[in-house]
Amino acid sequence: MAKLMLVWDYDTPIARITATKPYNYVFEACLEEEASVDFILQTARDLGAKYTFAVVGFGAEKSVAPFDVRHVIQKIAIAGHEVASHSWKHEWLPFLTPYQLEKTIERSKFILEDCIGDNYKVNGFVLPHDRPMSWYSRGAFSSGDRALYPLAKGASIGGVANVLQKHNYRWVRVNYRPLWQKLVDWKGENRAMRLNRKFVSASGFHFVPEHTMEFGQPTLDALQWAVRHDKPLVVAGHPGAFSFRKENLDNFKRFIELVANHVDKKEIELTTISDYLNLQEHGR
Ligand SMILES: [Zn+2]
Repeated sequence: MAKLMLVWDYDTPIARITATKPYNYVFEACLEEEASVDFILQTARDLGAKYTFAVVGFGAEKSVAPFDVRHVIQKIAIAGHEVASHSWKHEWLPFLTPYQLEKTIERSKFILEDCIGDNYKVNGFVLPHDRPMSWYSRGAFSSGDRALYPLAKGASIGGVANVLQKHNYRWVRVNYRPLWQKLVDWKGENRAMRLNRKFVSASGFHFVPEHTMEFGQPTLDALQWAVRHDKPLVVAGHPGAFSFRKENLDNFKRFIELVANHVDKKEIELTTISDYLNLQEHGR
């Protein structure tokens, strides 16, 4: 049976300020994100499914509304979903000093685990802005990272992974294209190549591919492809995107209807990243 993993990048209201281009800040959108998370949790209950939420660590810190989303994080964990880290304040990792890189990784894990309590272990990390996309030891280089490894440790997936392992993370979601792929498919239009991206494991640490993002037609097609080929499919979504454009919410509703159909026919099963990787430690 095909496995479907929905990974939500829960940016939380602080990332609307720490974003590289925060100048279209809208306060109401901060409030709407929480309502979108509630809606997402409802779809999981309807499907009997578990999702993965990568949460910006600052949301787990004691602060003020609407930046303090500790109650939302607790609600997510109590419902049995996986909580992963999405850094501490959605930093551009390639620009960080080694100290900052270490701290955003360490502090976000600490504060999310503290917020959930009950010896909860955060296993996963989702790179903010999907950066770096360079991975030197695997022949991937992206000038869009705007910094160079090894001068900047956070400018290579391998460099970030070393720090994650040091702080007992078990997986990171990655989005990179080795040079050979760019040579045969410069614009990244080859869908099969993208959907065939594999999970990579090295000394107990896992690199999770990002197969598709949001819920437009390419993701609907990806879902059919996964069912047909009996493949694992990792979909990245943003609760914050639902208030950005109404079309995004409509797309998600359409996607969930299709998923429910496949679940009924026992063609697909939804799971968290840690459950898929058989990492027992996460959760209660
Ligand atoms: Zn994000």
